Amino acid sequence: MLKSTAQKLLVVMTCWFLFFFISIAHSESYTVEDYDRVEKVDIHVHLKTDDTQFVRFAWKDRFRFLNIAVHANDEAEMRLRHRTAFIQAEANPSKVAVASSFPMNGWDKSEWNDRTLGYLDETFKKGAVAVKVWKNIGMEFRDENGDLVMIDDPGFDPVFKHLSSQGIRLIGHLGEPKNCWLPLEQMTVKNDQSYFRRHPQYHMFKHPEMPSYQDQMAARDRMLEKNPDLHFIGAHFGSLEWSLYELGKFLDRFPNAVVDTAARMGQLQYQSQENLAIVRGFINRYKERILYGTDLTCDSQTDPKAFYARAHEKWLRDWRYFSTGNLIKVPELDEPVRGLSLPRETVDHIYRLNAQRLFSNSWK
Ligand SMILES: [Zn+2]
Repeated sequence: MLKSTAQKLLVVMTCWFLFFFISIAHSESYTVEDYDRVEKVDIHVHLKTDDTQFVRFAWKDRFRFLNIAVHANDEAEMRLRHRTAFIQAEANPSKVAVASSFPMNGWDKSEWNDRTLGYLDETFKKGAVAVKVWKNIGMEFRDENGDLVMIDDPGFDPVFKHLSSQGIRLIGHLGEPKNCWLPLEQMTVKNDQSYFRRHPQYHMFKHPEMPSYQDQMAARDRMLEKNPDLHFIGAHFGSLEWSLYELGKFLDRFPNAVVDTAARMGQLQYQSQENLAIVRGFINRYKERILYGTDLTCDSQTDPKAFYARAHEKWLRDWRYFSTGNLIKVPELDEPVRGLSLPRETVDHIYRLNAQRLFSNSWK
């Protein structure tokens, strides 16, 4: 029982203040209705087709793209990927920017260096604003002695020096999620389980003769130490998706590095199921170092309408996670995940401002 008028007044005022602050907090976040009003960049897609309809559809969602042409297998395939990447950008220069890559064949020959720099310069002339290195470096590609070539190999030094001097950013998908070194049943997210079930050649738990997770991260860090002027984008949270603590240490150690969220939202959400406040605090603190990306991939066989429908569903789900406090069912986890209800300013950084700062001449 409330004994005095003063006590009653205190309760009323407390309720009023609580209501006031909750409404302020709410208005600081975007809503689901804001989704297609806010301009956004998906910094990690692979549009491997001449068909440019998807980019038009995606503008309904206010998305622009960095279209990444990866060197995954041989040079012929890489050239095809560059061809389609530039077709997409030329058709929609205000919506699509391109990241290129370089061939590894001829690595052991002395002319590899000049040839690679020449190849890259051609892609820069066409407008490429970044260069991607993939996990085949460190996990697949071997020199003529049969040794795996790691990313800190001195053979790459002139390439990375060239990128630094040209102001071109290096995107690195190096190593794999830490789950890759665990047995299937210990992996934290379902998409890793299904990927490594389908690609046992990349499931490092089955290949103890290969470099460890720590070996891959250490090679990447040595490369960055050698190249302090290189601006680096760690794809897939820089393969540090399993621990925001480790990711924070990495970002503090390398001030020119940022990371993207591509294909690792499940691991972030797994951590927010464990402690939502830590994830929320981390993203607010590092809001200038995290870029939204998905890894959405299509090729000439993909129906653009169906692909857009899948992309829309994924984008909207991620938007709800970052912007609202809703409970969200995600395909990577069994239990639903609570949205982070991040402030608008943080969401703007992750979805647009960081991309515009990094690639200030793109999307014009
Ligand atoms: Zn990718």
